[in-house]
Amino acid sequence: MPRFRRPKGTRDLGPAAAARFEEIRETFVDMAWEMGYRLVDVPALESRDLFARSTGEDTEIVEKQMYGLVDGGGRELALRPEGTPGLVRAAIEEGWLGGHNGERLAYFGPMFRYERPQKGRYRQFTQLGVEFLGIPGPEADAEVIRLLVSLLGELEIPHTLKLNTLGSPAERAAYTETLRDWLAEREMDLDEADRHNIARNPLRVLDSKREATMAATARAPRLDETVGDESAARFARVRGLLEKAGVDHEVDSRLVRGLDYYGHTVFEAVGREAAQDAYGGGGRYDGLVTALGGPDTPAVGFAAGVDRLAADGTFDDPEPPLWLVPLGEAARGAAWPLAAGLWEEGVAVQVAWNETGLRKALGRADTAGVRWVLILGDEEAEAGEVTLRDMAGGTQGRLPADAAALVAAMEDAE
Ligand code: AMP
Repeated sequence: MPRFRRPKGTRDLGPAAAARFEEIRETFVDMAWEMGYRLVDVPALESRDLFARSTGEDTEIVEKQMYGLVDGGGRELALRPEGTPGLVRAAIEEGWLGGHNGERLAYFGPMFRYERPQKGRYRQFTQLGVEFLGIPGPEADAEVIRLLVSLLGELEIPHTLKLNTLGSPAERAAYTETLRDWLAEREMDLDEADRHNIARNPLRVLDSKREATMAATARAPRLDETVGDESAARFARVRGLLEKAGVDHEVDSRLVRGLDYYGHTVFEAVGREAAQDAYGGGGRYDGLVTALGGPDTPAVGFAAGVDRLAADGTFDDPEPPLWLVPLGEAARGAAWPLAAGLWEEGVAVQVAWNETGLRKALGRADTAGVRWVLILGDEEAEAGEVTLRDMAGGTQGRLPADAAALVAAMEDAE
């Protein structure tokens, strides 16, 4: 048993998993960039109050899941449970707002939630996401949704996009009251664990995945049917734009998302299998920037779970670098300048410093999936040469121990 173990709910990513995360990051950053989104990076540590104000004091995330701490100076801080509040805080503080065509920001980084341990749920996990600040129209909603869906497409992840409207803040508030009354009359039919939300946050009851609650609320008043004409027309516009961009979607009147700041469009990309966790989701949050002390700025965004994407996406295994195998004391001396020359030429090469015999070295290179091996025995070292072996065909030949000559030889053989 190792002496130290990782904290419960965290993960160690080995080279293969870390390479997947990196591939997702690059794919996301490139795709976002093509639509005008620029990567920014803000602290994982923020004031606790920021999340109480934005995510919502009454939400499960802030109340039960947030990692709070008091630093040496007595400041109440928290490890961010989600990205949006910190990004909006930074946009206000750093003066990133106010561009005529809005601001498109993208992020990728660790989030922290004290979750009940379960499959696919971690206490430190990674999210990527975007925030599009400053554009009130449905085009902005369609844009961020299109980016999320294209990213899933690029990673070859089958999914369904669910969409709903929460209406304007006033409509949402009115609906919340109607729903609260409706639920209060049926309290006993709900799963016990959901009952406390009737008074506190009735929308969350609709979000419940507990069977009794789902059955009892199947006929609950529907948000998409109670919103006014203006909100309904806006929602229809978003749907029309998605259709024109080839983005398939379903309306799900139960989709509410738990955070306080959403209004109008909300969406979630879910797996095709029942009871699977979502890949990501988001929505419009027009009131948040002012709630955090910034200028009146409409906004929409999404966040997706990188741990989820990495578990289900299709990835290329990175090719291992070429091996340079020095066999003997003189060879080890000659290997270093040769490796340095190859690195300068941009050739990916790793030196197998521990090898002492050719047969075993080739066996290990083969297991590692290496295509090219440079063998450097003492005899070759003396002659200023090296043997280049093509593991694919098993052919080999002696060449000058010169980086440029070796690069040319490998290019000829490809
Ligand atoms: P949320 O911010 O809760 O809407 O989460 C957006 C996405 O992040 C989810 O759909 C998940 O894919 C992912 N996610 C949220 N919480 C966790 C967690 N504790 N562990 C791993 N992934 C998570």
